[in-house]
Amino acid sequence: MTVPVDPGWFPLALRLHDARVLVVGGGGIALNKVRLLLAHGARIEIVATHLDDTLEQWLAEGRVALAGADATPDLLRALLPGCRLVYAATDDRALNRVVAALARGMNIPVCAVDDPAPSTFITPAQIHRGPVRIAISTGGSAPVLARRLRERIEAVIPAGLDGLARFLEAERARVVARCPDIARRRRVWEDFLDGPGATAAGSGDTATARQVLDRLLDGGKTGGEVWLVGAGPGDPDLLTLRALHLMQNADSVLYDQLLPPDVLDRVRRDAERVFVGKQRNRHTMPQADINAEMIRRARAGERVLRLKGGDPFIFGRGGEEIEALMGAGIPFQVVPGITAASGCAAYAGIPLTHRDCAQSCLFVTGHARADGTLDLPWDSMARRGQTVAIYMGVTALPALCETLIRHGLPAGWPAAVVERGTQPDQRVLTGTLGDLSDLARRNAVTSPALVLVGEVVNHRVITPPPMLED
Ligand code: SAH
Repeated sequence: MTVPVDPGWFPLALRLHDARVLVVGGGGIALNKVRLLLAHGARIEIVATHLDDTLEQWLAEGRVALAGADATPDLLRALLPGCRLVYAATDDRALNRVVAALARGMNIPVCAVDDPAPSTFITPAQIHRGPVRIAISTGGSAPVLARRLRERIEAVIPAGLDGLARFLEAERARVVARCPDIARRRRVWEDFLDGPGATAAGSGDTATARQVLDRLLDGGKTGGEVWLVGAGPGDPDLLTLRALHLMQNADSVLYDQLLPPDVLDRVRRDAERVFVGKQRNRHTMPQADINAEMIRRARAGERVLRLKGGDPFIFGRGGEEIEALMGAGIPFQVVPGITAASGCAAYAGIPLTHRDCAQSCLFVTGHARADGTLDLPWDSMARRGQTVAIYMGVTALPALCETLIRHGLPAGWPAAVVERGTQPDQRVLTGTLGDLSDLARRNAVTSPALVLVGEVVNHRVITPPPMLED
């Protein structure tokens, strides 16, 4: 087996306390690096012809040392041995490259600022909260993007993270001693982090935090449960925060074929993945077996994620699944998702309702019965002034269009089909009841695809879309 090689940067955290670090340059760029290095207790030696005021002050205070003025190769060769890191931080790119070449020759990691090519390491944008370090790097390709990401991450970091991390650090050995089983221990920590103990630790109330932790260690609340979660129509950005949160805490995930890999990728890496998909006429696992599997796993103490495309309560058999869970006495939660009709409509630029032409919207399934017939409320579907969103309608599309015409809608009535809505390869075809099924056949439209019928199709707005166009 060959392992693919990633030529990008490998992230590491480095201990710099008491380590010699050489900084060549004395201006603003050097100052930023020195500030970061000082915070980590490095012993800094500067080579510079001119020092920034702040550096001048730090020199006077003995926080940094000046090792020379001109960065000549001889001086550098004398200073480099024994350095853990080197920053070439002058505004002279050629000089930075000379410094970098000398350092590389001695196997000393070197960063030529804003010049990844001669560098052997880069300094990521960082967030510090006590022992927690979050580093964001674009491999030197877009430092401003890295800084923007840092701002966004900082905005969502909970207050008190520093105190919480220190509390966990202090309790760690005690928890390992009291709970040697690694799986159960992870569970205790997760329950702790999800509960009031974490808030208490974050605000400095360690007594309460310890009480909560002790209760969990004594075996409080670790039973299994099932989370029935809607994953939306495909674009991972359409996951809810709650879905994402549960996806990252599950022990196992039961998913079906509607789920795009991009979404599944966001489930906790070591959660067990169980495919229980159903395809027309090719049942991978009957519904009763899926129910039994969820119940068995929950009884064994697992937190089972039942991940479904769209919304679990819209043509998702979510109702049947929770009835089975109720019957078995298994605790569960249901998390709504963006249903295909909403996702496809938004990403195709077709509103589901419109003041001028659609006062209501009907969701129907175009899935034929075992005998091949469609049992649908045709009279209420073949009405003006509304939109009909047809799920699972690709196979029966010719029959659907014909029957709607027979029940009174004109052959020129607008209709559209959205294939793999919200996904990078989304396709949108627009036409009429008279020509849509032909159009779909000629373009080889396959499931999953959603059919939209109604005058809203004429109101389609094609703005620069987030997805590829047809
Ligand atoms: N619970 C899901 C629907 C499951 S039924 C929901 O709320 O969306 C499966 C049908 O949903 C598919 O046959 C198709 O008609 C529709 N569908 C699901 N995802 C879709 C997508 N990304 N693009 C178009 N249609 C989709």
